[in-house]
Amino acid sequence: MADVQDVDVIVVGAGPAGNNTALGLAQMGYGVTVIDWRRDVGDKLCTGIVGQECIRRFPIDPSFIHREVASVQAVTPFGGDVRFEAATPQARIIDRVAYVASFANRARDAGAGYLLGQRVSAIEPDKHGVTVVTGEGKHRARAVVLAAGFGSPLTRQLGFGAVTDHVTGVQAVACARDVDEVQVYLGRDVAPGFFAWLVPTHGGRALVGLLARRHAQAHLAAFVGRLESEGKIQGIIGTSSSWGLPLRPLKRTFRDRVLVVGDAAGQVKPTSGGGIFYSLLASEIAAKALGGALADDDLSAANLSQYQTEWKSLLARELEIGYSARRLYEYMSDRQVSSLVQQAGSKGICSDLTGGPDMSFDWHSRIIARVMGHPALGSGLRLINPLLARLACRPDPTLAAQPVNSSLPTQVADLPD
Ligand SMILES: Cc1cc2nc3c(=O)[nH]c(=O)nc-3n(C[C@H](O)[C@H](O)[C@H](O)COP(=O)(O)OP(=O)(O)OC[C@H]3O[C@@H](n4cnc5c(N)ncnc54)[C@H](O)[C@@H]3O)c2cc1C
Repeated sequence: MADVQDVDVIVVGAGPAGNNTALGLAQMGYGVTVIDWRRDVGDKLCTGIVGQECIRRFPIDPSFIHREVASVQAVTPFGGDVRFEAATPQARIIDRVAYVASFANRARDAGAGYLLGQRVSAIEPDKHGVTVVTGEGKHRARAVVLAAGFGSPLTRQLGFGAVTDHVTGVQAVACARDVDEVQVYLGRDVAPGFFAWLVPTHGGRALVGLLARRHAQAHLAAFVGRLESEGKIQGIIGTSSSWGLPLRPLKRTFRDRVLVVGDAAGQVKPTSGGGIFYSLLASEIAAKALGGALADDDLSAANLSQYQTEWKSLLARELEIGYSARRLYEYMSDRQVSSLVQQAGSKGICSDLTGGPDMSFDWHSRIIARVMGHPALGSGLRLINPLLARLACRPDPTLAAQPVNSSLPTQVADLPD
């Protein structure tokens, strides 16, 4: 078993979070090694939709973009389809693998080393550094960034615990010759409490998937059957895959010599499950905080706590409001969901919601606030979750520290429709 020479930082995981942290640290001149058990960087289950702010902030090679998204067709359980269209594209459907790999390529160009096909089985911090154990050998570094994605046992092993709520995502590639708009399907039959999607990519193909707390594969099979019978898809290519998505962040994302970033830390939009942008944002903060701590030669938890302070001041309010809105949505009946979407799609309200500066694919709290505060849309919702209404409609970011009512039951209550 060969031991690898010391580096400043070992990053575990070559997803968006790990690659971008490695890039930031390597650009500061630190010695970085990224370890991932996958051989193909970035090849993890994902739909690959990112908002325009993500693209602006973390540019993408235009050849990786399959499509621009300016409109979405929402298919409701009662009451049919509602089309939401913005004046300009709000998001892009991208080749996720190529995009994530581009961060790794830039990190390599900046000097980071990559060890692929190696699974990290243990991370052991001590007074003088950290030992990272893989099947191939032991690696030593001054600090470790844990960016190993959802459900890594390493977070527990290091004493960070596990995220307290999550959902399963399941997806397959379909032949879909005539689909050229993103379609979102709502309703308890399709994806209870969440949603299903049909997302056209390129070459007559589309991604068919959904999020569900239970029986995700069975729901997908039923959804695929429905899309086939409606003639929207012409069969599935290969098999479906599933993977978890955190809905809540870890309470603590730092300790002596270790930071946790990305899905491993639960930095994911609880509304949609999108995590690429927030992983990239959090990894920038992680690189800056860790770079500073390396320069100080002080890798204590106290010094690294700056990372959590900064990512929370950027994201915690979004995550809290998003989670509360998610629980509210899970609580609503199909009839209530249909009625809300129908109303939101009506001419005046739709242009009001999608036309203003609050419309953002990346920051959902603003649109949640608009809906909760809307005289017609929000009246029933404010009754169900008054705390969300108060939190979402107040622009004070320090409120993020306060717990929101997230204890609503997931079963539909006997509320008036
Ligand atoms: C079905 C589905 C659809 C999604 N669609 C979207 C979307 O459209 N837009 C969006 O923004 N987000 C989407 N997401 C979420 C998004 O994929 C994640 O939020 C994002 O990939 C998180 O990046 P990460 O770097 O934290 O983790 P990951 O991308 O999961 O990367 C973690 C890496 O760590 C490696 N690893 C794990 N354990 C070890 C170990 N022990 N040793 C070595 N390596 C290890 C893994 O191989 C992996 O490469 C989706 C997720 C799912 C499940």
